[in-house]
Amino acid sequence: MFSFLKKRRREQLRASAFPPEFIPILQSNVPVYRRLPDELRAQLHGHIQVLLAEKHFEGCNGLEITDEVRVTIAGEAALLLLNRETKYYPELLTVLVYPDVFYADVEDNEGHSVSEYKEDRSGESWDMGVIILSWKDAVEHASTGRAGYNVVLHEFAHQLDMENGAMDGIPQLPSRAARDAWHAAFSDAYEAMQRGQRSVVDEYGAEDPSEFFAVVTESFFERSLALKRDHPMLYEVLSSYYCVDPAEWSAPAAAAREALPRAGRRARRPRSPRA
Ligand SMILES: [Zn+2]
Repeated sequence: MFSFLKKRRREQLRASAFPPEFIPILQSNVPVYRRLPDELRAQLHGHIQVLLAEKHFEGCNGLEITDEVRVTIAGEAALLLLNRETKYYPELLTVLVYPDVFYADVEDNEGHSVSEYKEDRSGESWDMGVIILSWKDAVEHASTGRAGYNVVLHEFAHQLDMENGAMDGIPQLPSRAARDAWHAAFSDAYEAMQRGQRSVVDEYGAEDPSEFFAVVTESFFERSLALKRDHPMLYEVLSSYYCVDPAEWSAPAAAAREALPRAGRRARRPRSPRA
């Protein structure tokens, strides 16, 4: 009964009028929104309404949760749900938002010695219903044109990864065949990165398979053409999983920028690690 009511409530939320004041927020803070076909924009609006109603947003260190904060984060998170059966990140309850990078306690027990230190982070995704984000990092990529770095997509991809119980770089897939295709495409690209081969994918993905899935999700939506060029098989399995083909939405300007020689595109300022 509960799931029936929940389903009906979600249908109502998706069908309700999308507040027009949210549109400029999406246009300025969610780069992919500008390229999204109309039909998918309508779907995205519906998903945003559900996420805003179901997830709790909490400001930390003095950050005030405004419509801009909620709509920007929900807008990015909703991109990962388009065209799919979705449970709307069922484990996720709360999004904690810091004004800027935050500090995590890290325990390092290499060998015989244990060291504890603090490390700055721009995002974290927990399996206890929490995502933590730096608001500065969440909006900065939209205005600085640092396409391909998107901490919100990154942390929500970790939530999808956890939906089948393990954060191992393999989300819930519909069939054995889909799992085999995923495994082949991912291990190929992951091993190439481990060998030091450069591509459009952020080298942070070499940390482990779950980070690899999170960073290729960023590339898939934000550097679609380049990912398709560098890793066609990987692009294809991601396209089957996410049920969209973002390379098709690329505006001519984006296509021209992505076609620039690689050396010119890799430069970026140092930044805080994601987790
Ligand atoms: Zn991560």
